[in-house]
Parts: sequence; structure tokens; C-alpha cells
Amino acid sequence: MTLTIPFDNSYARLPERFYTKLAPTPVAEPGLIAVNEGLARQLGLDPEALATPEGLAVLAGNALPGGADPLAQVYAGHQFGGWVPQLGDGRAILLGEVTDSDGIRRDIQLKGAGRTPYSRMGDGRAWLGPVMREYIVSEAMYALGVPTTRALAAVTTGEPVFREGAMPGAVLTRVAASHVRVGTFQYFAARRDMDALGALTEYVIERHYPDAAPAERPAQALLDAVIARQARLIAQWMGLGFIHGVMNTDNMSLAGETIDYGPCAFMDDYHPGRVFSSIDQMGRYAYANQPQIAVWNLAQLATCLLEQIDDDRETAIDLATEAVNRFPDLYQNAWLTVFRAKLGLEREAEGDGDLAQNLLSRMAEGRADFTALFRALCTLGEDAAEDGPARDLFAEPALFDGWAALWRERLTQEQRGTTARQDAMRAANSAHIPRNHRVEEAIQAGVAGDYAPFGRLMAALARPYEDPPEYADLKIPPRPEEVVRQTFCGT
Ligand code: AMP
Ligand code: MG
Repeated sequence: MTLTIPFDNSYARLPERFYTKLAPTPVAEPGLIAVNEGLARQLGLDPEALATPEGLAVLAGNALPGGADPLAQVYAGHQFGGWVPQLGDGRAILLGEVTDSDGIRRDIQLKGAGRTPYSRMGDGRAWLGPVMREYIVSEAMYALGVPTTRALAAVTTGEPVFREGAMPGAVLTRVAASHVRVGTFQYFAARRDMDALGALTEYVIERHYPDAAPAERPAQALLDAVIARQARLIAQWMGLGFIHGVMNTDNMSLAGETIDYGPCAFMDDYHPGRVFSSIDQMGRYAYANQPQIAVWNLAQLATCLLEQIDDDRETAIDLATEAVNRFPDLYQNAWLTVFRAKLGLEREAEGDGDLAQNLLSRMAEGRADFTALFRALCTLGEDAAEDGPARDLFAEPALFDGWAALWRERLTQEQRGTTARQDAMRAANSAHIPRNHRVEEAIQAGVAGDYAPFGRLMAALARPYEDPPEYADLKIPPRPEEVVRQTFCGT
């Protein structure tokens, strides 16, 4: 079976200073970890062909499929708030773009594909751990209903990658609505390259925000739409206890997808200040800081768009400032929508935000597991005597009781019956998330050549709102000795 990929590469048609065209660097011995069948089909690709030696050669960067126009994109960015005038794909190569079964153009990119002019001190490679982590977490996010880049495949390279020691090398095939980042705009804005900024703005509007094109000020409509998408995205992260870990401006996608799964993690027990990334020593990207950081990043984007928004600088600054200032309300509304659903509230009532915050404060005090607690709420009925599954998750179970009384009082304002509420809540509170200790377990087995735990984890995460008994062990919070406290970006 031959592998044909119907590429149509729009990014490669942008001006040459947007990228460097180069092919992936071949590896010693490609080995299959996983091919994502559902995603392959969605992209119009044959999953079986991808798993043949010919397909593996493509996924490892050893062969180029017809129609590919490989390139590394250039961008800049603020990393932990510090300006870096040039970053770029230091270990990723965009093979090209295809249109999926929904009519959406998708990038197909190899991550870990070798050095590029943007590699700086890096080796251009990835090791198996971060590749498996990104595969697991991005596909989990997809199944959880969160906009995200996806994983089409993962392969081993048969070559060592040197990090703390020699680790097995791997390549992830990443699929994204695009890889344009806030940092892509920053790269050209810093160089005062207005032609490039104009072309990039037009490109992003055409590809992601066609509704902005006919607006009086298309760049302002673009900014508004990007801000609205980010507000919803971050609210979804917050509703899952997800911590991105490295929300640098080069890791914020213009398409509004979660991108760049490095030291990301889902919380076990809830704390608003939770940080996992080993390099985030100041807690800049802590759970509760994520909305503020999003505003900060969006303000950088707004700055880059000023000249496109209006020829008059004052007018442009006013409009851009207003747009950024709308984020807190947009975010608060999105957050309320997420948490109302989590609490089984169909109606909107004054005080719903306080009710949710009240629970979160108690969870922090009682070190309640985020995912398990919200899932346990789905089982509760009218009788407080049967609240055990939820209250037992608190170090001090009585912490739950005071809140449960407020919640039941609020539920009296709802029309829906108990069973309907419980069903709806189960669709808003997943049983499964990729728990850190399970991800680590799957990686450790993978490093030893056993991908069975990975496969089992992926099967549970593919339907996270269902709770089949055969995966019950995977939803259990870690025992104290299993808790993972730190994650690494793996670069
Ligand atoms: P990240 O933290 O993954 O978003 O990466 C930040 C920057 O470092 C990007 O420009 C990456 O391409 C680059 N980078 C990360 N890891 C490597 C590596 N192993 N080799 C070369 N460049 C890398
Ligand atoms: Mg990045």
C-alpha cells in the first residue's frame, strides 16, 4: 500500500523570510510506537499505510512523501517574560498541509526531526518521554473536548538522545490547525517588517477567522476573535485542573488550540498555586495565574497589530486596549459556563461564581482531588447522608458538608430532576484525565520497550466521560508515594 498525502502547502507560499526550507534529518532505525487511526482517517490518510516501512520512513523523517514542502518556521517570543528576538522551529519540520474531512486545513509536522537554523544550542531531537507525554496529553485533551493540536503518530529513531543520560530518541507527528503563534507576529513586529505583518495578518484571517475579513477593521476583528477563543480555551483548562506550564508567547496559538505540551500536567489534589514545571521557579505559570498570563500574551499580540488596526496610532491603541480589556469579562463568563455545568446548574443565578469558588477554597484546604471530587458530585442525590463519595475525598470531610448544603439550596432553583442533572454532570466532569503517575508509568514501560500501559491508558482516555469498570484503576488518585511533583520540558 502506498502512502499518498494530498498536500496543499499554503505556508510555503508565504514570503521566504517566514521560514527556512529544509528536510528532516534521517534517523538510524525507525520503529513504530503508535499511529492514530481515527485522526489518520480524518486527514484522509490510510492508517495501515502509515504503519508500513514506507510510512514509518515518512514519520521518522527518512523519506519525504510526494507533495511535501518541508520547512522550519521562524518566530520570536517572550519566554518567562523575557524577550527572545528569534526562536523558530528548532526541532520541528512542517511537512505540509492537508484538508481534513471537516474541510479544515491542518499542518502535519514532525517534532524531533533534527537540527534547523533555529536550533540554537539544541540537538533538534526529542526523546521518548516527552513524545509519549505529548501524544497522551494532546489526545486526552481532544477527547475531553478542548481545542488542541493532535498526535498522528509516534516513532522511535533507534538513536540515543542525550539528556540526563542517554535516552531513546523519538519523533512525534503533530497535527495543528496551524502553527502560527503570538511569537510569529512578534518576530516581524520587532523588525518593523510591516509587509510581512500584513501578509501574516491576512493569512491568519483567511485560514482561521474568515468572518473577520469583511469587517471595517479586519485586524481588530481578528484580535477580538483571538481574545474570545483564548478566554474560552483557558476556562476549559481551568475546568480540568490543567496547567500548561510554559505559556510563553511562542506557545500561544493564533488558532486557539492548546499547543506545546512540555511540562504540562493535570492536578491531582487541588491548589490554585499548583506548579509542576521544574523551570517555573517563580510560579509564573501556576494554575490560577493562567488567565492573567493569557491577557499578558494577548497584549503582546495587540501591540504587534497596532499598525494594521488603524493608521492613527491613538485610535489603534484605544481600540486594541479595549479589546484586551474585554478579556476578563469574556473569561469570567466562559469560566462560569464551565463551572455551572460542572455543578449541574442549568439556570444562571447570581452567586453561582461564589458557590464554585467556595467549593474550590474548601478543596484547597481539604486537599481534595480535583477530578475525583467533581466526578463524585455527579453521583450525589438529595440525601446528604449519602455524600460519602465526595466528602471522603477531603482530608477533613466536614469541609464538604457546609458547601453541600449551599449547593442543595441552589439546586432547588433548577427545573431538572436528579437523574437528568446527574447525567448532564457526567458529561461535564470526566472520570479520566491523564494522571501524572500514570503518564510516568506508561513512559517508563515504553522506555523498557513495553507499550501496553500506554495503549491501555490511551484507550481509557479516548472516552474520558465514560467510566468502564476495566479502567477503574486509572482514575484513582495517586497514593502519597506515587505523587509526581515535578515535570520537565524535555528539551
Ligand atoms: P519549547 O519550550 O518546546 O516551546 O521550545 C522553545 C524553543 O526551543 C523553540 O524554538 C524550540 O524549537 C527550541 N527547542 C526546544 N528543544 C530543542 C531541541 N532539542 N533542539 C533544538 N531546539 C529546541
Ligand atoms: Mg514552543
